[in-house]
Amino acid sequence: MSMVQTLEPGSRYDLRAGLSPDAPDEDKLKDEEGLFGYCHSYETSSRYDGPGLRVVLFVSGCLLRCTYCHNPDTWHLKDGTYVSADHVLRRLADFAPSIKALGGGLTISGGEAMVQRAFTQRIFAGAKKMGLHTAIQTSGFLGDRISDAYLAEIDLVMLDIKSSDPATYKRVTGRDIAPTLRFAERLAATGKPAWIRFTLVPGETDDPDNVAGIARFVAPMKNVEWVEVQPFHKMGEFKWKALGLDYKLQDTKPASRELTDRVIAQFKDAGCNAR
Ligand code: SF4
Repeated sequence: MSMVQTLEPGSRYDLRAGLSPDAPDEDKLKDEEGLFGYCHSYETSSRYDGPGLRVVLFVSGCLLRCTYCHNPDTWHLKDGTYVSADHVLRRLADFAPSIKALGGGLTISGGEAMVQRAFTQRIFAGAKKMGLHTAIQTSGFLGDRISDAYLAEIDLVMLDIKSSDPATYKRVTGRDIAPTLRFAERLAATGKPAWIRFTLVPGETDDPDNVAGIARFVAPMKNVEWVEVQPFHKMGEFKWKALGLDYKLQDTKPASRELTDRVIAQFKDAGCNAR
């Protein structure tokens, strides 16, 4: 069992590794009560992480291996700080009055929040009790495993759809696309507010047919408030090197303004509210 620690503020670009060496593998975690969990860091942010001023909590553990991932030091539970949910909520309570005043809330990101289902549900529930807006940033890969009660604690789902083409999705993430699309359909069927996020990686996801496929899928969904195009950048590259990982996008250039505008226009032309 990992030692309980305190969670320090930081940035998503801080490199954290090996802080809880006794943690289980992320696909073997038994997280039934959610009293404790593994977190990378937390920071305040705005606009890109949900409406208003946000406290963004980055939890550890992810089952995808995206080639462009900015936070490979969140893939494993053992890289996170082992903290209690109460401790996280006490930290959040310090920010709650100003976040509320600025129309913001709590966003849980990662890693993948759904790896630690009970832990993140407990934190979402605590945030709602403080009167905060709640948002999750997720790949949706584990969407089948979360309950309606879990979803009820979340006001906004920010869902990454990285490709419409199963082969491209598999190449870029290492996993199947079907669970993500099923999760998107479930959100649409229940009217859960959602922002769809698309990472634009030149040479990987920018094919017009790939973009068109996502746009066709999302455009009829009335619950989708925004499609957000996120241009690929290389701010996380140093982490891959520090962790001894093979960074395949070394020669890939960040997405240009022109390419980003083309893709946003493509989503808009298909009827999506895109930015
Ligand atoms: S889902 Fe997010 S955290 Fe997981 S590998 Fe992909 S980009 Fe990284």
